[in-house]
Amino acid sequence: MNMIPMVDLKGQYEQIKTEINQAIQGVLESTAYINGPEVSQFQAALAQYLNVNHVTTCANGTDALQIAMMALGLKPGDEVITPSFTFVATVEVIALLGLTPVVVDVNPDTFTIDIESFKRAITPKTKAVVPVHLFGQAADMEPIMNIAKEYNLFVIEDNAQALGADYRFSDGTVKKVGSIGHVGATSFFPSKNLGCYGDGGALFTNDSQLAAQIKSVANHGMTVRYYHDHVGVNSRLDTIQAAILNVKLPHLDSYNTKRRQAADYYDSAFANCKYLQTPIRSSLSNHIFHQYTLVLKGVDRKAFQSYLQDEKGIPAPIYYPVPLHMQKAYQDSRYKAGDFPVTEMLCESVISLPMHTELIEKDLKYITESVLSYFSKS
Ligand SMILES: *Cc1c(COP(=O)(O)O)cnc(C)c1O
Repeated sequence: MNMIPMVDLKGQYEQIKTEINQAIQGVLESTAYINGPEVSQFQAALAQYLNVNHVTTCANGTDALQIAMMALGLKPGDEVITPSFTFVATVEVIALLGLTPVVVDVNPDTFTIDIESFKRAITPKTKAVVPVHLFGQAADMEPIMNIAKEYNLFVIEDNAQALGADYRFSDGTVKKVGSIGHVGATSFFPSKNLGCYGDGGALFTNDSQLAAQIKSVANHGMTVRYYHDHVGVNSRLDTIQAAILNVKLPHLDSYNTKRRQAADYYDSAFANCKYLQTPIRSSLSNHIFHQYTLVLKGVDRKAFQSYLQDEKGIPAPIYYPVPLHMQKAYQDSRYKAGDFPVTEMLCESVISLPMHTELIEKDLKYITESVLSYFSKS
């Protein structure tokens, strides 16, 4: 059977193999495995790309979120608002730090934090909000920033899935997603839009004081060597990963364009299929399709998924099957089934198709024809 990969890291590597191998070889020769010059070079290049003053790299995206919350001085008892339809990392670090996670529903079109639910969840204890730019599309940052200002909340953008996406404000200003809140956090996990060849993450901010705090927290709470001012963590991007990212960053825009082109192909193929709701693209953001996620309409998802995977060799994973407030680890008497109807509907009806930078027309044709033939026979 013709097996289609969900993500084609090998094909992408083949395109830049010479440069990547040279970059890795350079680090091997230098032996500067930790904090080599490639790390600060990458931080500067990413800061320029995002148009932010400060970028600090760290070990992964989950650490980036944790470091952001520590650097902002959030304390046990502080409430942090985040959507219930996302990857677990956000609530995980909130819980680890002894903060109180407050989950809210998402917008049915963009799958990002619902503005009304966010507003309703604010209490005198609320200190921060973590909008997630899910699947490659920006959360609606303008009202989020306005509400945060009114209630004096920190905004921590989880930008692990939308590095390179733009957001447009009503006055026409365009900013890179992740550069809008007080701090942005991202991941360079291999399958992300900008992936390294292991683990990696970064934080961005325009606030110099906060940037200094972030650097210190990520480095054992230290500013002067061996003087520890507060409890920190050890979280670094290693030099080999930074060297790889230096090669890949200049390709990020073209990678995102390729993802968008694949999404365009899917969209037009599925436009007249009443069983599929294709991704809705907000006019405020340019969707960069970390995932291509369909909402099924009156379809038995399990049967459809096993048809694609088992009969056609097309991966069709579910991001995400369980809302955060219904995960075993995060169950909470404050929440019950039915509290977040959009999140719960999405968890029951979404399905994602292969999305990566190396999808060629032959694959897209096979995938879309296979999908559509399921509905023509039923
Ligand atoms: C991948 C991801 C993270 C975590 O990144 P890691 O590098 O795997 O720790 C956090 N948030 C979201 C939305 C993600 O997709």
